[in-house]
Amino acid sequence: MKKTLRLILGDQLNSNHSWYSTVADSVTYVMMEIRSETDYTQHHIQKVIGIFAAMQNFANHLKSNNHNLIYLYLNDQQNLQSFSDNLQNLISAHQFTHFEYQLPDEFRVDEDLKQLCNAISISSAAVDSEHFFTSRNELGDFFEGKKTFLMESFYRAMRKKHYVLMDGDKPLNGKWNFDSDNRKKLPKEHKPTSPLVFENDVSAILLEIEKTDIKTIGFVDAKNFVWPINREQSLELLDFFAIECLQLFGSFQDAMTPNEWSLYHSRISFSMNIKMISPKEVIDRVTIEWQKRSHEIEFHQLEGFVRQIIGWREYMRGIYWNQMPDYAQLNYFNNSEKLPSWFWTGETKMNCLKDAINQSLHYGYAHHIQRLMITGNFALLAGVHPDEIDSWYLGIYIDAFEWVQITNTRGMSQFADGGIVGTKPYVSSASYIDKMSNYCGSCYYKKAIKIGDKACPFNSLYWNFYDKNESKLAKNPRIGMMYNVWRKMKPDDKTALLEQADYYLKNSNDL
Ligand SMILES: Cc1cc2nc3c(=O)[nH]c(=O)nc-3n(C[C@H](O)[C@H](O)[C@H](O)COP(=O)(O)OP(=O)(O)OC[C@H]3O[C@@H](n4cnc5c(N)ncnc54)[C@H](O)[C@@H]3O)c2cc1C
Ligand code: SF4
Repeated sequence: MKKTLRLILGDQLNSNHSWYSTVADSVTYVMMEIRSETDYTQHHIQKVIGIFAAMQNFANHLKSNNHNLIYLYLNDQQNLQSFSDNLQNLISAHQFTHFEYQLPDEFRVDEDLKQLCNAISISSAAVDSEHFFTSRNELGDFFEGKKTFLMESFYRAMRKKHYVLMDGDKPLNGKWNFDSDNRKKLPKEHKPTSPLVFENDVSAILLEIEKTDIKTIGFVDAKNFVWPINREQSLELLDFFAIECLQLFGSFQDAMTPNEWSLYHSRISFSMNIKMISPKEVIDRVTIEWQKRSHEIEFHQLEGFVRQIIGWREYMRGIYWNQMPDYAQLNYFNNSEKLPSWFWTGETKMNCLKDAINQSLHYGYAHHIQRLMITGNFALLAGVHPDEIDSWYLGIYIDAFEWVQITNTRGMSQFADGGIVGTKPYVSSASYIDKMSNYCGSCYYKKAIKIGDKACPFNSLYWNFYDKNESKLAKNPRIGMMYNVWRKMKPDDKTALLEQADYYLKNSNDL
């Protein structure tokens, strides 16, 4: 009799996958909590717990639907702590005759499983994970022969192909992109909606992790774990977003303010990235909400959100599969510095960084502009090696999986790919941070000062970055203007700025 073993990875918790539409005695599923996954980078404790909790809930769901399942817990004696060792062991112990897996999202795991299939003597097959709008190679095919990979043209094609926010063959409401209506600073008197947080008790999982020597970062309240750990909670969070946050999502998507960790963001990335819900479900849910309440929810709020999902998220995945493995080595500016030590403690006098890092340590979460224009901006201005930056981002965020982390970090944030993802580096001085946040007023440093003890480090580091990388950036049409300003500056002023930046870079641990 044919006996099939099917592997379910920790980020493949898709209960709507066609695998589960029939129950068969001949099929056994396997899920495993393994050290090769907990240890490939130093993860946030909430990320490890969140994934294990969601895996255990998914396993219970499969068992209650009568599927055969083997679940290897972290500290099980028979757990050999890697995919290939566990799978080879199970295949011979249970005499499976066929092995199947869903295509992994990470290059590293994809390579491992391909090697395993070559090594085992039984037949094997890889099937789609049935989650994304696009296949792995779709973006590569779409841009075939093109030098640049413009997200906007990919996004429009996705809208047409999947008939999202369309009116016949035209974009609904006449325009593809309503970004100019978005991105406002939060008014001082505005009190954002309090985020929906869960109170999951995950202390049993924490206890198991504490029995090992797994190294993690960040904090957790294991009796009140705030993240969704099953499909029901994921759908609840999505409902909360649609009902309470969508109406101001676009307006305040780039706003930052101390003590408000999520504003009008959905915090749905963790649920989506481990596939407890699909991007199609997310888009359908918010579109229905807008249709019901179009008198209250302006179209630009909806379009801004939909673009993140069907545009940016699919685009980043496509870039990843088109560019890996070379992408992980790119370092366009030849940066080589280390991240300052306060990236792991939040103990810095720089208010914006203190807030973004402390929030990341407490929740495993920061929203997009904190990642891009606070931590990412600083790291690029400080000339930090992209490997250092990748491993920090891959560890600290609960939603961090390489396919979406590296393209955002090395690509969008660090421009280490020389412009595959972005058309220019995302750097700024204090003026942008002050424009979009309420951080500067109470900061030790002074946003308008460039030189001296209290000068905001972003100001001198910003000009130092342009000066240092002139040969690579001066011809970029989107930033040529900055070089005109720099060239017109008095030589003494330029020298003072570069000396100030040099002092800050040499003393970055003390900022
Ligand atoms: C340096 C850096 C690192 C990042 N690392 C990750 C990561 O490891 N994992 C991750 O999922 N996202 C990452 N992002 C993208 C984005 O910041 C997060 O998806 C978002 O903050 C998640 O929070 P949210 O669900 O509240 O998002 P919302 O602001 O509510 O947006 C809705 C959804 O849109 C999608 N989205 C938005 N922007 C992007 C983007 N640039 N790329 C891909 N999807 C996007 C996400 O799925 C997100 O859940 C990173 C961005 C930067 C600048
Ligand atoms: S003054 Fe500078 S360091 Fe302080 S919050 Fe503003 S931008 Fe950040």
